[in-house]
Amino acid sequence: MKDQITFKSVNGNGAVNGRHNGKHHNGQDALTNWEEMGELHAGSSAETPLRKDAFMLSDDEKVNIIEEKFREILETLGMDLTDDSLQGTPRRVAKMYVKEIFYGLNPANMPKISVFDNKFKYDEMLVEKEIQVQSFCEHHFLPIVGRAHVGYISNGVVIGLSKINRIVDYFARRPQVQERLTVQIASELKKALQTEDIAVVIDAKHMCVSCRGIQDDHSTTVTAEYSGKFIDRATREEFLRYIRL
Ligand SMILES: [Zn+2]
Repeated sequence: MKDQITFKSVNGNGAVNGRHNGKHHNGQDALTNWEEMGELHAGSSAETPLRKDAFMLSDDEKVNIIEEKFREILETLGMDLTDDSLQGTPRRVAKMYVKEIFYGLNPANMPKISVFDNKFKYDEMLVEKEIQVQSFCEHHFLPIVGRAHVGYISNGVVIGLSKINRIVDYFARRPQVQERLTVQIASELKKALQTEDIAVVIDAKHMCVSCRGIQDDHSTTVTAEYSGKFIDRATREEFLRYIRL
């Protein structure tokens, strides 16, 4: 799992299952060039590919640079930037990129995670479902919108429920690949909760599938990561019953 996301059906740790046009199942052998990778919606690593100097510039410096570049894109498309309606667009988009939809790129924005002793000695599965996912496909920069469902079995510590939402949101707010997002959320929860007994399922709609390319408006993509006790069939089925997917 370290460098490459494995592509296999939902049957164990690291399982990934795409159900939109079946292209997710083609596997790594086919990933020979960038165009193909984009069409397969495949990621090359469980880590977000960031350069070492990713945070040398301040947020404000980034906003200024992106504003200029986005202005060039609009001008290249032939748009008249003196029009009232368009004038503020480059800066608006730049601020949105840096401060909102891609804020999760910066580790400084990682939510503070506090865990508590499991005072109630609740040792059954805890499931938080229907967590909002708003992300962006890194191949097309179009939205991925859906729901995440998370389960864990406490190993002595518990986490504030809203923190699970915050972890999901933080990793979603980057240019993403759904498979990687699933793995990143699971790894962070394993670290925070000090347990391997974690399940994460994401069911999401990709605008790059509905608005362009195949233009399928109905399909969604399901990805799953199960580890620890969730590899056990009965435990996993209990979790899936709760989320009724
Ligand atoms: Zn895409």
